[in-house]
Amino acid sequence: MITLKSKREIELMTRAGAVLKQVFENVKPAVTVGVTTRDLDKIAEETILNAGAEIAFKGYRGFPATCCISVNEEVVHGIPSDRKLCEGDLVSVDVGASVEGYFSDAARTWPVGKIDKQRKHLMDTARDSLKAGLSAYKPGCRIGDLSAAIEQLIKSRGFEVVREYVGHGIGKKIHEDPQVPNYGKSGYGPRIEPGLVLAIEPMVTEGHYAVETLKDGWTVVTKDRKWASHHEETIVFTEKGFICLTGEIS
Ligand code: MG
Repeated sequence: MITLKSKREIELMTRAGAVLKQVFENVKPAVTVGVTTRDLDKIAEETILNAGAEIAFKGYRGFPATCCISVNEEVVHGIPSDRKLCEGDLVSVDVGASVEGYFSDAARTWPVGKIDKQRKHLMDTARDSLKAGLSAYKPGCRIGDLSAAIEQLIKSRGFEVVREYVGHGIGKKIHEDPQVPNYGKSGYGPRIEPGLVLAIEPMVTEGHYAVETLKDGWTVVTKDRKWASHHEETIVFTEKGFICLTGEIS
């Protein structure tokens, strides 16, 4: 069931979104050679708790940490650990928070030290494709209009888009209807009406889009072990356009 959010609900989600902006502000400068993914998770955890918000992912279906942290060929759902980041790695941090029972969800991919040009391009493409999707929005348009625009941008750069994991509605639960695929056909899917809030999250691969889950039961990697990037924002759709609750996209 797709639910449109009231002004009050959007206010709470805006506060939950602001907490994630603060998380990224605090975590980003710590992304350096030699830091562990667990160190980054700890910074995120402290930021959410200091803001008086609640951590969304820890305990969700048994997930053990505050963030999903995925490195290089890991696409999503990586578990923070003692792994030290190396020069040239690409690290994605996906994190959720809630305020008075209303959720926000967002992800960033960052370079560790210097990365090569192609990997920078891969990283930028996740964010650029989300922007391309949003630019397809008009009140009453369909999910497929955004999906098609995201897919088109990614393919125009020579990359592929993950199919098995998709974006989602968000509100009282972290995952609500509708699903938001990062590929598809314009003119298809549920309508996007003002008041709908979506977590849109393109996952871009430099090789084939097929993925598999590692034996830890969580970490999703590309089957061909080529690298991936991920960008996610929580977006409120309005009569005039959209508001990004978790970042600067406009
Ligand atoms: Mg999400």
